[in-house]
Amino acid sequence: MSDGGPGYRKPSWDEYFMAMAVLAATRATCERGRVGVALVRENRLLATGYNGPVGGNPDCRGQGTCRRTADGGCAETAHAEQNAVAYAARYGVDLTGCTCYLSGYSPCLMCAKLLIQCGCRRVIFRKPYRDTMPLEFLTETGVELALYVGPAPSITWADPEPPLPMSQAPEAARGQMPVVNAPLADWEFVANDTWCWPVVRVSTG
Ligand SMILES: [Zn+2]
Ligand SMILES: [Zn+2]
Repeated sequence: MSDGGPGYRKPSWDEYFMAMAVLAATRATCERGRVGVALVRENRLLATGYNGPVGGNPDCRGQGTCRRTADGGCAETAHAEQNAVAYAARYGVDLTGCTCYLSGYSPCLMCAKLLIQCGCRRVIFRKPYRDTMPLEFLTETGVELALYVGPAPSITWADPEPPLPMSQAPEAARGQMPVVNAPLADWEFVANDTWCWPVVRVSTG
């Protein structure tokens, strides 16, 4: 508790990786829900994903509303788990034996089967999905399940170094490096306690 100063508590590995899953979820824009995932082995991050439109299609929000499937789901997006597994495949990352941290509900049936087939051995989620069949498949195939209790991890970085004033950025970069995140004078990440609506607050003040 005290290493790192008063009021500091080192997060557990579960908190750390659940926070990454929640952070990934902030990139999702679908009004049907935002889901993030972190695939991890031996306490190292292998891949992240969030539910997002395929192949560079516009964000759900960018289209006003997204196309829906017959049962009312979002037709635009690949699910967070699908994206994480696809990107691992694209870059040749072996997912055998990984743990899957999910920011919200347990996986849908397709994602459960995908996780089983990619070698995932453990799935940690914050709420059981209404369809219990995916959990049956996971259990039957020997995948461990765990419920992450308590609120979503919330990240606030109390930066000991004040940000460089924007006016000084060009001089500091001296034309030798690009200036990234230039409009962001302050950055705060807040995950609220509901399962799927983490928000990023960006202050430009
Ligand atoms: Zn959508
Ligand atoms: Zn799914």
